[in-house]
Amino acid sequence: MSKLDVPYKIYLEESEIPSSWYNVRADMKNKPAPLINPATMKPMTFEEMQPVFCDELIRQELDDTTAYIPIPERILSAYKMYRPSPLTHAVFLEELLGTPAHIFYKFEGNNTSGSHKLNSAMAQAYYAKMQGLKGVTTETGAGQWGTALAMACSFFGLECKVYMVKVSYEQKPFRREVMRTYGASVTPSPSMETNIGRKINAEHPNTTGSLGCAISEAVEAAVSTEGYRYVLGSVLNQVLLHQSVIGLETKKACEKYGIKPDIIIGCAGGGSNLGGLISPFMGEKLRGEADYQFIAVEPASCPSFTRGKFAYDFCDTGKVCPMAKMYTLGHDFIPSANHAGGLRYHGMSSILSQLYHDGMMEARAVEQTSVFEAAEMFARVEGILPAPESSHAIRVAIDEALKCKETGEEKTIILGLTGTGYFDMVAYEKYNNGTMSDYIPTDEDLAKGFATIPNVNL
Ligand SMILES: *Cc1c(COP(=O)(O)O)cnc(C)c1O
Repeated sequence: MSKLDVPYKIYLEESEIPSSWYNVRADMKNKPAPLINPATMKPMTFEEMQPVFCDELIRQELDDTTAYIPIPERILSAYKMYRPSPLTHAVFLEELLGTPAHIFYKFEGNNTSGSHKLNSAMAQAYYAKMQGLKGVTTETGAGQWGTALAMACSFFGLECKVYMVKVSYEQKPFRREVMRTYGASVTPSPSMETNIGRKINAEHPNTTGSLGCAISEAVEAAVSTEGYRYVLGSVLNQVLLHQSVIGLETKKACEKYGIKPDIIIGCAGGGSNLGGLISPFMGEKLRGEADYQFIAVEPASCPSFTRGKFAYDFCDTGKVCPMAKMYTLGHDFIPSANHAGGLRYHGMSSILSQLYHDGMMEARAVEQTSVFEAAEMFARVEGILPAPESSHAIRVAIDEALKCKETGEEKTIILGLTGTGYFDMVAYEKYNNGTMSDYIPTDEDLAKGFATIPNVNL
């Protein structure tokens, strides 16, 4: 079937799970800009972050120089429950497309949370436990991060309090019950438990909530509860560090079977899976040892990289978090109501933003109906029902493979398949019923978000 002599599914041995994470910042000449404290307009210090984040995670957040950070034994054990994850040669998709390209996907959906987010949740829960904390708080929108964190907290014996955007809490009861099954307490946000929640409820009595508001509530709950800290599932440097386990395994599998990727593709919400997948390959490119084409794929309705501004902005709508320098659409930006495919965050990881700014990677924006078309093509021949987020990467992998069909090039493409789509059947239903539409924001729409970006001169 294929000209490459590799098995359909490439499994590594348990002993081949990497024993250190790789910190791509160590090899970046232009380091990502630091988080800024809006009160002082100076870089956030260790002490300023301590009330909110766990100590060891702050050290990782601030460490721009250590290339390899050992993965503690207990986290490695936890990883063994669901890692190494397979790298699969998409021979049936290649056949369907009639392309000379070789397509591989690294599948991170083989755990109950259904996505790569468990890689960082396990690490963050471990460090919270080691610090002797009682519990952690977080926010969740669709629920993937909350589920991953609930699983990690139950494994390490920590309390877990999740503020779930009210509309998701009501519309996604299954996600909510998975979290409760793992012992987490789940509160619809805005709630009446926090000052910010009470204030928002008073001002907007019928609000269905937003991620920005849930973040504000989770941070308030963490700093006002003894023995608690706040954790975040994407965007931060530490999260990309933990997710490097994806890229390190991918690289090991490539070396084992003589696979040399030309193009590496991932979807980008806050940038954690893409950053993790490309990190070790980007390190080679930064050190001048190899060259790869990296492509970030984002929704056309939330185009942070392709149409955003590279500037300091708030990470949340409530402005309780520090400011990050990133590609942003403005912290008040909310994708249009018809947007069903995830990846709705207004900003982007500072690491990936800097790499993109320096021309080390590309970005493409794709429309959601074309994303679901790619998702169904993939599902029908490769068996896995992909998450809508992951399907952004599938779309561009297919586009690149079809280009190879025209040019006759035998390129090797690797894509990050971040998760399964079982909890996204409402979005699939819309696509199947033909009621899904595309919306691309106009320049005027985007200007409203840009107007909320603070004017920072450092
Ligand atoms: C959260 C999520 C993403 C996007 O987050 P990143 O931090 O950009 O990786 C992508 N795919 C799935 C399945 C997710 O759950």
